[in-house]
Amino acid sequence: MITAALLFALQVAGSSPATQEAGNGSRSPAGSGAAGEARSTVRDPANKALVVVDAGHGGPDRGMSGLTTARTRVHEADITLALARRVRDALKARGIDVLMTRSKDTLIALRDRGKIANDANATLFLSIHVNAANPRWRNPRSARGFETYFLSDAKTEDERRVAEMENEADRFLDVDAEPGDPLSFLLNDMVQNLYLRESSEFAATVQAGLKPVHPSGLDRGVKQAGFAVLIAAHMPAVLVEVGFGTNAAEASWLASAKGQQQLAVAIADATGRYLTDYARRGGATIGGR
Ligand SMILES: [Zn+2]
Repeated sequence: MITAALLFALQVAGSSPATQEAGNGSRSPAGSGAAGEARSTVRDPANKALVVVDAGHGGPDRGMSGLTTARTRVHEADITLALARRVRDALKARGIDVLMTRSKDTLIALRDRGKIANDANATLFLSIHVNAANPRWRNPRSARGFETYFLSDAKTEDERRVAEMENEADRFLDVDAEPGDPLSFLLNDMVQNLYLRESSEFAATVQAGLKPVHPSGLDRGVKQAGFAVLIAAHMPAVLVEVGFGTNAAEASWLASAKGQQQLAVAIADATGRYLTDYARRGGATIGGR
């Protein structure tokens, strides 16, 4: 019906010689080259959940940077990758299939990250980032806490600020990222709209899961904004800002193995909880049938 027509139109819009799969029925991420991490297990996409874990930034795009309490400079791209690997391991330990958009220090265009997830027929898309305070704030170094976003129109200045900051990543690409044709943008937007409710549920579950482990204890809430990385994903999709790298105490925790492990376990537990509820509502199940 409308959904099927939309998805068909998207497939047509998204097809190009460069992105066609060579093999018949191959499920490896098209166009991702070495960036996508191949999975060794065969999955029935209709029944078994697959979570795409997206480590923000990478390669020349270091993301935000900040100083720890020991005055060591840390970069978002390193924190997100280390954390994403731990989230992958924690999800796999719970029997959940995982695909990383990047498993090494490399840069991938924002919309290719969603494409990797679409090509793999993923169930969920989870993008991991580190927040940065606006230097113009009265006391920027004191800003702290965690927030989880789903794709929708930003309602506040702060939501717009975070989306603009994260959407800048594509400027680091050698080849200018094509803006994409207006039709496919519109269709992407409509498809993500279909998942608005599930995405906000997933965001709420992740946000609630972080509260017990986060040293700040500061729950900044579930938020919404226009993230380029989320718009390309045709499934429930969220972006989590795990803390402020501009706050020395949070930067220290985010860069530490202990902090990353606490975060990874909390995110994996929350994702598992969400998937259980999602399966109850008719979505893909963790173990398949
Ligand atoms: Zn980021």
